[in-house]
Amino acid sequence: MVDIYELNSDIVAIQCTKCKFIKLKSDFYREPRGFAGIRSICKKCDKARRRQNYKKQPEPANKKRGKKKKLAPQEQRREAIVKEIRRIYRKGGKTTLDKIMIYNPPLYMQAVAHFHGWDNALKEILGDEIEE
Ligand SMILES: [Zn+2]
Repeated sequence: MVDIYELNSDIVAIQCTKCKFIKLKSDFYREPRGFAGIRSICKKCDKARRRQNYKKQPEPANKKRGKKKKLAPQEQRREAIVKEIRRIYRKGGKTTLDKIMIYNPPLYMQAVAHFHGWDNALKEILGDEIEE
């Protein structure tokens, strides 16, 4: 309920429904849809409420998105092996991969260790992709 103070049927003062102070009409924002064409809360309360609403707003989605989970060293190593073997396969096909023991023994050894054998490594990394 809004208390309105009229003078010669002109609204001169209104009681703010929030802070309960009686204020001049100019201390209220116009609100065409509102009662008597003004807001029921004064400018000061309106600003305070808006500030409050702003604070309540959720953080932008990109801020919430956490950093990519860091892989354990063991998994990182594995990822690197997978990446390298895929790269070699894409570049030189199966023939080049078969010669990997000759030109990249460390990669071969690592792949064998991580995947329990070279054939397993190829099967796991390239799967159906690989041509016989
Ligand atoms: Zn107020």
